[in-house]
Amino acid sequence: MAAEGKTIYNLTAGELASETPDYIKDYVADKLSLNKYTPVAGLPDLRAGIAANVNAFYGLDWVRPENVIVTAGAKPALYAALLSIINPGDEVIMPTPAWVSYYHLIELAGGKVVEVPLGENYDLDVLAIAHSITDKTKAIILNSPHNPTGAVFSRDSLEQLAARLRGSNVFVISDDIYVKLVYTENISLPADCGFENLIIINGFSKSQALTGWRIGYAVAGEGIVSAMTSLLSHIMGNASLPAQEAGLAALTRHDQPPEETIEALKRQRGIVKNALDNIPTLSYHLPDGAFYFFLDLRRLTDNSSAWCEDLLTKTGVALVPGEAFSAPGFVRLTFVSDSATLEAALQKISEYLGAQI
Ligand code: PLP
Repeated sequence: MAAEGKTIYNLTAGELASETPDYIKDYVADKLSLNKYTPVAGLPDLRAGIAANVNAFYGLDWVRPENVIVTAGAKPALYAALLSIINPGDEVIMPTPAWVSYYHLIELAGGKVVEVPLGENYDLDVLAIAHSITDKTKAIILNSPHNPTGAVFSRDSLEQLAARLRGSNVFVISDDIYVKLVYTENISLPADCGFENLIIINGFSKSQALTGWRIGYAVAGEGIVSAMTSLLSHIMGNASLPAQEAGLAALTRHDQPPEETIEALKRQRGIVKNALDNIPTLSYHLPDGAFYFFLDLRRLTDNSSAWCEDLLTKTGVALVPGEAFSAPGFVRLTFVSDSATLEAALQKISEYLGAQI
């Protein structure tokens, strides 16, 4: 439709709208003559820097360079982690709604997906998770801040889950990719809530606008990291060298996103909130992190795919249907666009709904 010259308000992105930060461009520009393979698990300085940064950020003391593997984005880190721990038929608990790739990554790794709906305000439903644990359960995937809802899980629910898992062999895979994009004080994360068998997945994609550079990492016990390294040595080799240099640059600022990025996201979140407050048919839970609103359409329809297609055709506004997240009847709206685009898109949605009601 865009190619036909139609104006499209694309609120589907899973990445920041800004360019690579200047400080990263400057740092990497000096390193472009470097061209050799690196160790599969990453440059020693980068692994050491990530270990130090992770310890400082979560208040941990056990993460050493040997506990870190650098990968071409968070996706290969997740896949290699799942391949390393899953035997055919093992179950992996996936709270839903859930980011679309978990389902496929678990199945590709030979596992069976066990969906457990999130509870009120998209917090963990610890009792439901506990009831879903069987002797086949190998792992639980947690993602906070959460895609697609922007929710941040409460300390209470995380600690309760950690207490229930204590002494078991169940891994908790904590996908912390949005952890540096938060709009609330004092968020609690699995890594500081007492989980024993923890695998942390993270990267620089979302925090530093480096999605296309492909640079992520996992932090886990040395045995898991070593298994992941063996696997990736045959599949992927090392993450690209310039991308690893970009990671080193990000660590010079403790992987904190530029302040203007957070300020802009807060502003944009406010614009969407204000507009949604005037559209009573769409309910939402204000996101505390990431850059998504998850809108509840169930008063209108359970078929979000058809709804999104109709909305796009009639107004040019593109949203992601909830079916992609195991949540029909919902849609995801990304708020990384500039204020004018968001305001115009929400005006279109409002008119569309007015016409439909
Ligand atoms: N985890 C979640 C929850 C995501 O939303 C995404 C990207 O959308 C990723 C992981 C993948 O990150 P990367 O681009 O670093 O592979």
